[in-house]
Amino acid sequence: MGMEGYKRLLDYNRQWVAERLAERPDYFTRLKDNQDPEYVWIGCSDSRVPAETVTGCQPGDLFVHRNVANQVVHTDLNMLTVIFYAVERLRVRHIIVCGHYGCGGVKAAMSHHDFGLINRWLQNIKDCAERHQAELGALADEEARSRRLVELNVVEQVDHLAKTSVVQRAWKREGRPWLHGWVYDMRAGLLKELVCRTSTDLPHPVHRFDLGEP
Ligand SMILES: [Zn+2]
Repeated sequence: MGMEGYKRLLDYNRQWVAERLAERPDYFTRLKDNQDPEYVWIGCSDSRVPAETVTGCQPGDLFVHRNVANQVVHTDLNMLTVIFYAVERLRVRHIIVCGHYGCGGVKAAMSHHDFGLINRWLQNIKDCAERHQAELGALADEEARSRRLVELNVVEQVDHLAKTSVVQRAWKREGRPWLHGWVYDMRAGLLKELVCRTSTDLPHPVHRFDLGEP
């Protein structure tokens, strides 16, 4: 395929619009003035984990943030802006962190290769691996360790969400959002829930904020 292959995306788009309008004439106009998504999706950038496709979500359903290895990094202004806007303004009911087996970011973090600048991003996953070294080291092979680290990484990112003042304030005020940790199996197409944290699952006292009156 030559360079012109990209045009199939634009062709498909016209076909998709025609199909949606045939189903429902207000498919697009109903969404033009505002959005009211129920979910935030924090997923990996990997092209094989398309959030809307695997969950059956439509435009207007998911507020999406994706990065390499679905990280929730407390100094990442991009991620924090997504969470702040989604929780404070859009009042989402659920935040889903979704990792996936076979994640290239996790595999890179397990290697000892020097990736230059990218080392900074992978450091968080290396720290996670270090904290769970006893469990990971007891596993039979590299594949098993990789799969388990994918899961541990997801659970850790959910913990990071619970440590934000944005989430704690919404928990205190309205008992939402629920925080979910999911993993996607690319070979089977299946999602699995690893953890679900609600407003009663506050983080360690060290991480709790004095939020005053709601
Ligand atoms: Zn990935």
